[in-house]
Amino acid sequence: MPPSPPPLIDTHCHLAFSAFDEDRSEVLNRAREAGLVSCVAVAVDAQSARQALALAKAEPGFVYATAGIHPTEEAVADPAEFPLVRELLESKQFVAVGETGLDAYHECAPLDIQRDALIQHLNLALQCDLPVVLHCRDAFPELLAALESYRGEGLRGVLHCFTGGHSEREALLSLGLHIGVGGIATYKPNSDLREVVREIPDERLLIETDAPWLSPVPMRGRRNEPAFVAHVASRLSEERQQPLATLAKQCTANAQALFRF
Ligand SMILES: [Zn+2]
Ligand SMILES: [Zn+2]
Repeated sequence: MPPSPPPLIDTHCHLAFSAFDEDRSEVLNRAREAGLVSCVAVAVDAQSARQALALAKAEPGFVYATAGIHPTEEAVADPAEFPLVRELLESKQFVAVGETGLDAYHECAPLDIQRDALIQHLNLALQCDLPVVLHCRDAFPELLAALESYRGEGLRGVLHCFTGGHSEREALLSLGLHIGVGGIATYKPNSDLREVVREIPDERLLIETDAPWLSPVPMRGRRNEPAFVAHVASRLSEERQQPLATLAKQCTANAQALFRF
């Protein structure tokens, strides 16, 4: 018998998306075989939050759902959408608010509209006592400025798919947030990013896939799936010079503590 893989949690995947409609049960089986003990199915609007919740109910204890509006979704500019998300979150069936955040890279709603939605999400996270899942693309100064006004308020959460530098890492840590590392940190040219993630303190590190996108090396170019979080873990264990089992156990404990499952 091969040794059993260490326990892993994919803290950020879009498992309820249609990219998995054809073979979701096989994807879930492969995740379990790879050692995953849980996945967080992240929503991008109210409809995808309902789908993530349905999946969480079908896979109790294995899949957990979030609810929120992604900054690049059209729904972010629709005043009717946030009340739907609020109503879902008040049902207490979700483990986090998000994903929310700021994205200056993709062509989408202007940053001030994204920021208004972000503030609504942050306030709701505090009201519901839930962690927030933050997305940031080319907008660290603006995101950090928005978060700064929550310093000391007890905000919990994770900046997922981290791509920042040393100063962004330190700013997020000082705000009490966790940092999620995914496939981008495995890509060959990103040695600067690897240097930055080496110094994330053990107790603030989370691992993720962001599936179906951003497959880690050596799966790059294929559809991503939660099982591939094992490749992120093994690359990080090399970079951080920690045994894989130690790193996996720590990241799993961090995720369970943050999302409270
Ligand atoms: Zn994101
Ligand atoms: Zn995502």
